[in-house]
Amino acid sequence: TTHADWTKTDQYHNKYLLSQDEALEFALKNTDANGIPLISVSAAQGKYLYLLAKTLGAKQILEVGTLGAYSTIWMAKALPEGGEIISLEVNPKHAKISTENIAHAGLSSKARVILGPALDSFPTLSPSPPFDLVFIDADKDNNGPYFAAARKLVRTGGVIVVDNVVRNGRVADDSLQTTDVVGVRKLLQMVKDDKGVEATTMSTVGDKGYDGFMYILVNEGI
Ligand code: SAM
Repeated sequence: TTHADWTKTDQYHNKYLLSQDEALEFALKNTDANGIPLISVSAAQGKYLYLLAKTLGAKQILEVGTLGAYSTIWMAKALPEGGEIISLEVNPKHAKISTENIAHAGLSSKARVILGPALDSFPTLSPSPPFDLVFIDADKDNNGPYFAAARKLVRTGGVIVVDNVVRNGRVADDSLQTTDVVGVRKLLQMVKDDKGVEATTMSTVGDKGYDGFMYILVNEGI
């Protein structure tokens, strides 16, 4: 099958399972209109993150990599009154547009963007209670350090999801040594060596191509 088939299948299922959402559509349009590449999660993946947040009863969520806050808004929609999602973003333009998109969605009291390199922002975070859910979707080279930093801030029973861990099969091709796939391989080794977590990779195909989510359950906090 081809990319066109995957897109068709996403659209087919979305017709039944997803409803139109003005705020999410605005976020995509406003991101695109400002010349930011639309490398956000797909609609179906956004809904998946939303459902995961609801399933966990998440009150505190962390995201690494905001872009135009498309995934941020999906997860914020799952939060109860008083819940919060913090999203870390290095690009000032992305952070600005994200803040606009969050405001347009009426979610400014629940979603906050912190501008700066994520590894610099991590030490400033002290969520209380700890995070229920972390979504890592920024520069892939730093997947390992992001996992290590997030790991310390997630509650027992919490979940860390890492996007783009398959990369059209490139991660599994050891002849390739680009920093992004090397970053995912480092993450795989770290997760394997961490006895306090259990994890699996779910490959995804859809209108964003062939890729995958790593789902990491934290059994023991550190
Ligand atoms: N999660 C978003 C969504 O699904 O709508 C997409 C995020 S996009 C794939 C990756 C984002 O990570 C970009 O906006 C990029 O500027 C940001 N980024 C790259 N390096 C970063 C860093 N060191 N710290 C924080 N954000 C970073």
